[in-house]
Amino acid sequence: MSVMSLPLPRRRLLQGAAGLGGLGMLGLGGCVTTAGMSGPSASALAPVRARADRVFDITVCTRPFRAQGPRLDAETIGDALIVHNYGHGGSGWSLSWGSSTIAVKKAMANSPREVAVVGCGALGLTSAILAQRAGARVTIYARDLYPQVRSARATGSWTPDSRIALKEAAGPGFAALWEEMARTSFKTYRDYLGLPGNPVVWNDRYTVSDIDPSDPNRPRAPDPLGFGEYHESIADLTPRNERMPAGSTPFQAPFVLRSSSMMFNLRDYGHILMLDFLAAGGQFVRTEFHEPAELSRLKEKVVINCPGYAARALWKDESVVPVRGQIGWLIPQPEVDYGVYYNGVSVLSRTDGIVIQAVDGGDMKGYKDDSETPNRAETDAAVAKVAELFDTRFKPRGA
Ligand SMILES: Cc1cc2nc3c(=O)[nH]c(=O)nc-3n(C[C@H](O)[C@H](O)[C@H](O)COP(=O)(O)OP(=O)(O)OC[C@H]3O[C@@H](n4cnc5c(N)ncnc54)[C@H](O)[C@@H]3O)c2cc1C
Repeated sequence: MSVMSLPLPRRRLLQGAAGLGGLGMLGLGGCVTTAGMSGPSASALAPVRARADRVFDITVCTRPFRAQGPRLDAETIGDALIVHNYGHGGSGWSLSWGSSTIAVKKAMANSPREVAVVGCGALGLTSAILAQRAGARVTIYARDLYPQVRSARATGSWTPDSRIALKEAAGPGFAALWEEMARTSFKTYRDYLGLPGNPVVWNDRYTVSDIDPSDPNRPRAPDPLGFGEYHESIADLTPRNERMPAGSTPFQAPFVLRSSSMMFNLRDYGHILMLDFLAAGGQFVRTEFHEPAELSRLKEKVVINCPGYAARALWKDESVVPVRGQIGWLIPQPEVDYGVYYNGVSVLSRTDGIVIQAVDGGDMKGYKDDSETPNRAETDAAVAKVAELFDTRFKPRGA
């Protein structure tokens, strides 16, 4: 069963959550308050139809994790300035606007008229759009264009410090840089709320648990590497968890918590980024680079380098470590407008499908695993747990 903490400090609360595999990814940060009014929406939640035969896709990708945090330095190759923007672990979407703002500032230092961007994922697209806004003519060079990129296989949740760095390796200075990236991103996402297609939305997230969250002996996943947690500094951005009174939600469990978090409907959102880039005169060139020297032969003499996990091969950068993640996709249910965490499984309802993710094992799950082959048994087991929740522990209104 899942575990949450009651009024413990926010950091400890999330440690416990991550220990059981990722309340952070559900956006369930923060201390817990008791809900005064549950509101009609909480008692009228629609059930998820969790059955193995409703799984229509399984996607896998590798998070580009770096112990020291994302690479954002610049170097020159020949007469080209290369600004790096890769290695964002499980936070690439969440930090994209903030990280790309830093990269674009470096790239535009001498006001180049043309800028090249390598990569068309979360970081490439946001870098390209920001460079356009800064006045440059921009071409994206990439082997794959969105949505054929790893970024399109992400969960799509506001998770700005998910596997973003190891605390020791990143050092004390990283916290301020991270906060700058997170706050810039959060503010920029405001511009994508309320648009047709719902590219970015806020929705409720529930945690359903049998274990007393204040039990100091509650189980936690091991964290032998010491993943960095930085969310304390942006606690003011998102609501706190509330403990839901018994009977105020359809979930039948001793502990039901609710929070609200930002979610990215990555199909619509990625599509909008592609269109925005094109509408501002952007160009795509499909190409594959095999060594860094090729970048210096581009016509643009300023290059923002966003190859994601592929930096490991392209730049021979072994600081980029794979962290495998798999999503099973249930057929979309528009009437399900919330997420839930139960027994090591995360469920998130997006416009293009219901994300089912086994997140037991915490941040170490998938660490150094570069296999992108789908594991059907993993998804079936996760769907079975979700089915157990909705078949046996969910009482719809009026039932
Ligand atoms: C299962 C899973 C769930 C996740 N959930 C979330 C989440 O909820 N929230 C969040 O913030 N983050 C999440 N992430 C992390 C996020 O997806 C990544 O941090 C992000 O996608 C990295 O984006 P990127 O642009 O660096 O790389 P990519 O998306 O991999 O893009 C790289 C681009 O570079 C191009 N390229 C690479 N090599 C070459 C080459 N040699 N020549 C030419 N082009 C090249 C590729 O074709 C592609 O266009 C998740 C990751 C996984 C695996």
